[in-house]
Amino acid sequence: MTSEVSFKKYELPPLPYKVDALEPYISSGIIDVHYNGHHKGYVNGANTTMDKLEKILKGEAAGYDMQGVLKNLTFNTNGHKLHSIYWYNMAPAGKGGGKPGGKLADLINSQYGGFDKFKVIFTEAQKSLPGTGWTALYYDTESKNLMLMTIENHFNNHFAELPIVLIVDEFEHAYYLQYKNNRNAYLDAWWNLVNWDDADKRLSKYL
Ligand code: MN
Repeated sequence: MTSEVSFKKYELPPLPYKVDALEPYISSGIIDVHYNGHHKGYVNGANTTMDKLEKILKGEAAGYDMQGVLKNLTFNTNGHKLHSIYWYNMAPAGKGGGKPGGKLADLINSQYGGFDKFKVIFTEAQKSLPGTGWTALYYDTESKNLMLMTIENHFNNHFAELPIVLIVDEFEHAYYLQYKNNRNAYLDAWWNLVNWDDADKRLSKYL
């Protein structure tokens, strides 16, 4: 068996709807730049950083800062993976929103005192996020809790192997073209797009 230095690379997953499918809540201009620009950039950035790691392993890197390389890898890999959840967590306008069903609804009801209370606290978490990042709902496979998480930039506090069920992107690139500095208006509109079936499927894999 030969020894090789080779990392498998990421690919940009398909957008599960057309760029204008989320209008009027999120404009086609935003989705185009966000998906084809930003998300693709994170995929490329992760792959480029893996190329760099391969060069380091082969002794072909002239000079490098290992912590810088790993920070790039973390930023771009998380950027790719978090966006991959974000797109599929939304459904075309008219097909998303409403309330969750299935086991997700059961857990929200038994833990958060019902969907309305959950929506209030998840909204509070979203709207109080300082600067750039994400707000997520994840399932703790140890405690069996559905739990809120805040993610600064792409450097998540994502405890190993805990699956994210629902996530919202709060980077300015996710709303600025349409909502300018009114992030709260974007966050209010986002609820109309939530694909609860997708969130419930993500959760169900771990129950
Ligand atoms: Mn983004």
